[in-house]
Amino acid sequence: MSGNRTFTMVKPDAVANGHMGNIIADITAAGFKVVGMKYLQLSAEQAGQFYAVHKERPFYGELVSYMSSGPIVAAVLEKANAVSDFRTLIGATDPSKAEPGTIRAKYAQSIAANAVHGSDSDENAGIEASFFFSNLELVL
Ligand code: UDP
Ligand code: MG
Repeated sequence: MSGNRTFTMVKPDAVANGHMGNIIADITAAGFKVVGMKYLQLSAEQAGQFYAVHKERPFYGELVSYMSSGPIVAAVLEKANAVSDFRTLIGATDPSKAEPGTIRAKYAQSIAANAVHGSDSDENAGIEASFFFSNLELVL
């Protein structure tokens, strides 16, 4: 059975470019309920921990400095089939390949500065949500 929660971040480029409100509006219009939300800036150390799974990839250093370069919104979202429906809503990692109408097609700048994060599995959604939120901070 697929789970009903996923984790997202509105990334620094999208916040800096004033897209935060529109992205959250697109997310809620698509039927996702916000069950936790925080506005914060990651340290380089925290960004490195969050993306540790990508440590060996060539873009890791750039990703860590970009993700700690400015404020983000971190949120936990609820909907049936949350992980897979949210990946469809945001579109491909590379915004030039993202379907028209997806959040990355509308708001992303590049494959690195691609506006939003979305968990890729139920297991990672749980791990990523608990990186930012305790259960007590989520609307149950
Ligand atoms: N990324 C990058 N260059 C690449 C691939 C990915 O800078 O060639 C960044 C981008 O910000 C991406 C993140 O690393 O969102 C994580 O990569 P992943 O392959 O997990 O893509 P996602 O799951 O975010 O679509
Ligand atoms: Mg990923």
